[in-house]
Amino acid sequence: MRQFLYRLACASLVLCSAFAANAMAEPLAKDLFAAHRLPAVAAPQSIGFYSKGCVAGAIAIPPDGPTWQVMRLSRNRRWGHPELIKLLVQFSQDAARDGWRGLLIGDISQPRGGPMSSGHASHQIGLDADIWFSPMPAQRMTVEQRERDGSPSMLKKGSLYVDDSRWTRAHEAVLRRAASYPQIERILVHPGIKKKLCDTVKGDRSWLRKIRPYWGHDAHFHIRMKCPADSPGCRRQDPVPPGDGCDKSLAWWFTEEPWRPAKGPAKPPARDVMTISALPKECRAVLAAPSPASEVAVTYMGGGGPSAPVAASAAQGLPLMSLQPQSIPLPTPRPMR
Ligand SMILES: [Zn+2]
Repeated sequence: MRQFLYRLACASLVLCSAFAANAMAEPLAKDLFAAHRLPAVAAPQSIGFYSKGCVAGAIAIPPDGPTWQVMRLSRNRRWGHPELIKLLVQFSQDAARDGWRGLLIGDISQPRGGPMSSGHASHQIGLDADIWFSPMPAQRMTVEQRERDGSPSMLKKGSLYVDDSRWTRAHEAVLRRAASYPQIERILVHPGIKKKLCDTVKGDRSWLRKIRPYWGHDAHFHIRMKCPADSPGCRRQDPVPPGDGCDKSLAWWFTEEPWRPAKGPAKPPARDVMTISALPKECRAVLAAPSPASEVAVTYMGGGGPSAPVAASAAQGLPLMSLQPQSIPLPTPRPMR
């Protein structure tokens, strides 16, 4: 018996130390992805799931356009699948026509996607984007302002309900516009904002189905695109349930349960344990792929501008040249970084 126990202890010791060595040998995925300042040159492809994956052939939205300004430039998270970047530009133009001066765009994805060093569990495959609940100001914000300024919450302080002195028809309109695109499957907002829409939207309410209540999201909303046709390795999410969602599932958010602290010891966030082996194997190739010659070469210029041909040849399959002239955003001077 004693000998058996001894052997068992030995075996587990060997196993444990082998395991520890392996864990030490494998760096965290968030560090590998953060090390890349530029995307993988490859045909555009979203790989894996929104909260466990990566993106090849991503392009950047310029920090400034006629109808948008990108916030928190230091994070280098203004990259996405080209379909999402194109859609954001379109959305900003449509929203401006609706009376929303322009979009303040928060995080999209890192150049090659993957888990991030802070924030978001999702935003990993270039198909998620955060939009602030404040329209952009008339003037161009400085780089410092974009780092410093925050988006005010739409909620009454200390409550789960919208502050009516902040909420406007324009907020409803910008969400309705976002929901109008067939490529957008879900829009995450705070339950209080969903409730406000449920209580006030008149006429066609079918678009409310896409507006999904979720924790956070009281100062920004989060748009999520469905898997693009060019991405067979993209794992689609469950379809949104039928109906406008102004039902029991929404009422649950106004009970104590969703806000109760979790029981038991706190689990580390996924990003702090996720190694590259947890991601689809194609993500190793995404990390190993070459970078483009420059950031400008893979920044969306809507088919115009001197950098577009470089981008088109650098990353085969990028549809930069195929855009309609009316959707071309005028390039504006980029702020210093
Ligand atoms: Zn988000």
